[in-house]
Amino acid sequence: MNVCVIGSGAMGSGIAQVAATAGHTVFLYDNNPAALQRSKDKLAKIMNRLVEKGRMDEATAQAIQGRIQYVDSLYDFKAPGMVIEAIVENLEVKRNVFEQLELIVPEDCIIATNTSSLSIAAIAAVCKDPSRVLGIHFFNPAPLMKLVEIIPAIQTDSAVLEQACEQIKSWGKITVVAKDTPGFIVNRVARPFYGEALRILEEGLADAATIDWAMTEIGKFKMGPFTLMDYIGNDVNYTVTETVFRSFFYDPRYKPSFTQKRLSEAGYLGRKSGRGYYDYR
Ligand code: NAD
Repeated sequence: MNVCVIGSGAMGSGIAQVAATAGHTVFLYDNNPAALQRSKDKLAKIMNRLVEKGRMDEATAQAIQGRIQYVDSLYDFKAPGMVIEAIVENLEVKRNVFEQLELIVPEDCIIATNTSSLSIAAIAAVCKDPSRVLGIHFFNPAPLMKLVEIIPAIQTDSAVLEQACEQIKSWGKITVVAKDTPGFIVNRVARPFYGEALRILEEGLADAATIDWAMTEIGKFKMGPFTLMDYIGNDVNYTVTETVFRSFFYDPRYKPSFTQKRLSEAGYLGRKSGRGYYDYR
């Protein structure tokens, strides 16, 4: 089965790597040619590192890279069995892409979104056949994170849900089926983690490094909240918080932070832009 991925940013590149490692031919599309090139270069780097460390042989690394085709049009997708969309977290942009996509893919192709917080029902609703649409939510970095949330919309056919779960499990992932509610399971639980850390920072109780230190050293978390937000991207993280806040009818528990909004507006997106809560330059 050919797997097609839309968006070659952090998530799309990782998902393409996972599918190619599982043996699928993958078509990876992005509307920004520079993002496609970056994705290709990044995969080459990851594969080289695995070979150097003796965790993969050269032939396998070459084969995985050879299975991914980088394309600059949706029309270049060949016989897709499953499409996973991982573009910007914006409902209107995603709905536009799904509308176009449905005209291109065969009738039995599963169409999934990797959205972190948007309504799957609202994305599926633009399709003539919304029964084949669902959420398949990977975590960052997709090749390393085992958990994948599978989210059926109210329109999703149960056979499609089952097929998607089987497919993702066959890629070595652990699936959990979640309801189509803002943030699903993990991002919902994570909101107060980031939100409270930001409030502590804004109230001047402690600085980012001290909060991160406390959560890793004492709390035994793998990453502190500010390191994690810089890793995820402050633009992505802020948008998810704003969406969850709005979607829960402005419940103050999910209120977004001005600190994060300003960082995002300034382009201090975290690791990917070289600067966020910390300086990576
Ligand atoms: P990103 O900014 O790294 O990449 C998004 C890519 O989509 C960019 O390369 C951009 O050029 C491309 N794009 C934007 N609009 C497009 C369009 N109309 N057609 C084709 N390509 C387009 O973002 P990301 O972090 O990879 O996030 C992608 C999706 O995955 C979002 O919905 C996000 O909420 C979700 N997600 C993100 C994370 C995370 O930790 N970053 C985790 C899970 C899910």
